[in-house]
Amino acid sequence: MMEVTWLMVLLPLAAGSGWIAAKLSSKHRTALAKKELPAAYYKGLNLLLNEQHDKAIDILVKALEEDSETVEVQLALGNLFRRRGEIARATRIHQNLIARETLDASQRSQGLFELGQDYFKAGLLDRAEGLFMELSETSDHGDNANRSLLLIYDQEKEWENAIQVAKRIVDSDDVTVNLLIAQYHCEIAESAIREGRYDAAKIHVKNAVNVDNSCVRARIQSGRLSALNGDHRVAIETWKGIEDQNPGYLGDVMDLIATSYRTLGGYPEYRNYLEHALKRTADVRIMFSLLEVVDELEGSLKAESFLVGWLRTHPTIYGLYRLIELKIKQKPSDQEDLLLLESMIGSLLKKDSAYICRQCGFAGKTLHWQCPGCKSWNSILSTQHQTTLQKYAISGYRHIKHV
Ligand SMILES: [Zn+2]
Repeated sequence: MMEVTWLMVLLPLAAGSGWIAAKLSSKHRTALAKKELPAAYYKGLNLLLNEQHDKAIDILVKALEEDSETVEVQLALGNLFRRRGEIARATRIHQNLIARETLDASQRSQGLFELGQDYFKAGLLDRAEGLFMELSETSDHGDNANRSLLLIYDQEKEWENAIQVAKRIVDSDDVTVNLLIAQYHCEIAESAIREGRYDAAKIHVKNAVNVDNSCVRARIQSGRLSALNGDHRVAIETWKGIEDQNPGYLGDVMDLIATSYRTLGGYPEYRNYLEHALKRTADVRIMFSLLEVVDELEGSLKAESFLVGWLRTHPTIYGLYRLIELKIKQKPSDQEDLLLLESMIGSLLKKDSAYICRQCGFAGKTLHWQCPGCKSWNSILSTQHQTTLQKYAISGYRHIKHV
């Protein structure tokens, strides 16, 4: 049995990580090192040296499976199978393990936690949730169980439950979790706004700001709630605050700001604000909003010279496209060349993504607060602005990973 256990030291080499080795006590290693090694070790080592990692793991795992008595070995094996995607094998090992009557409390908790992760990976979320809830109050695995529960509630969009569990994790000093809690409150607020329950929405927006006062999404919602209440002046001031918070999102509220200014009849004031905003962040969307106002107030010739001036310092294909549009608008007939160019660039731009995730590179046309690709929160930003991302963009935060 001991000789076989020694093989555990080799597995990390094959698997490319050191996690199994850590599970062996130094006492074990010292004792084992003096023992004679079994033939499987040499065979496995040879395969490893010949870069035949999969074969090596198969041989070593087979030897380890025969060592069914040692709890540590079985836990490590189960983990290995899960990491290799062999969930059914991992589940079987962990189920057999926790059925043993000889386990101490800590080993049993560990076994239950691993089994919960097997269920999670297999998509059996109800079963995983049950096990993690059982463990969430324990001292050994409580924190990890809560983090796993948070992953489940996040995935299942059970925001109230997610907030409750996240609060328990916050107690363990994880500040990132506060940013998640803010997003969960915003999710609840969003549903409430859609259903016309504005008072409930206000409470959740306030809660979001309380845990994360840099939450742009909560600020956008707060402005929307003011506008819905007819307080357009307050709404505009709220949205303007984004330029200090994270100007990369300013372009995302330009339509909202425009609507409120129109409602107030403050169109010239809107124009002044756009010029100011453009100095804060070179966002194509803000430029186009300004262009629209100039076109409306002063005509397309003025708009064109304005755009040409901008393009000199901020050359962009979007700007070029708009310039062609303006040219065609000024003289609709006899413009075959420009029309051809317009349709060519137009089809190019259709393929362009307006938003991109800084965690996984997911590209899309709309702003998602949680990336559909990697499930990070706040990691998606517009590609239309040229603000120094490193300076202003807060990095997206991933979910807590499974152990
Ligand atoms: Zn992503």
